[in-house]
Amino acid sequence: MEIRLATREIQKDSIVDGEGIRSVIWTQGCRHHCKGCHNPTTHAFNKGIVVNTESLKQEIMQLESQDGVTFSGGDPMEQPEACNDIASFCQKQGLNVWCYTGYTFEELLEKGKQEKAILDFLENIDVLVDGRFILEEKSYDAIFRGSKNQRIIDVPKSLKEKKTVLVAKYLEKESYKKPKRTLYV
Ligand code: SF4
Repeated sequence: MEIRLATREIQKDSIVDGEGIRSVIWTQGCRHHCKGCHNPTTHAFNKGIVVNTESLKQEIMQLESQDGVTFSGGDPMEQPEACNDIASFCQKQGLNVWCYTGYTFEELLEKGKQEKAILDFLENIDVLVDGRFILEEKSYDAIFRGSKNQRIIDVPKSLKEKKTVLVAKYLEKESYKKPKRTLYV
């Protein structure tokens, strides 16, 4: 299966794209065009590089000392099937999965009625950071988010309880106690 990436490299050892030490997959293609987007070169759907997901899985298998994998972009939800192929592999490897998207969780559930791959991908995501980046709500105090409107969602719990459940510990920096290299979820 093919996936279009913004960069061929899996970025290792990130500590800002979710909890713990993470490897980041940067997808190409985003239709939200948020004002002040930090990554405008990832918007075009015909740019970047097309990669086979099998080769990415091989690299993921070689990862050392990583707590999880984060999908960012671009918007990974524009390629749900390919991202899910990788996400389900990560779960089997014991790596937790975070995903950043410009869609809200509710929008994704609605889109999922027409595009089942989105629901399948959600099933393999532990934490979703959702919503467009809103420049006016940009905050350096927001943990793992660019703007305060974005939410950090516990996806398994939300799907199980059929309502949006936030990961409360990230909401305010003051109340966030960084764990000692423990796996999230
Ligand atoms: S969703 Fe993310 S990548 Fe897309 S325009 Fe907004 S900030 Fe940029």
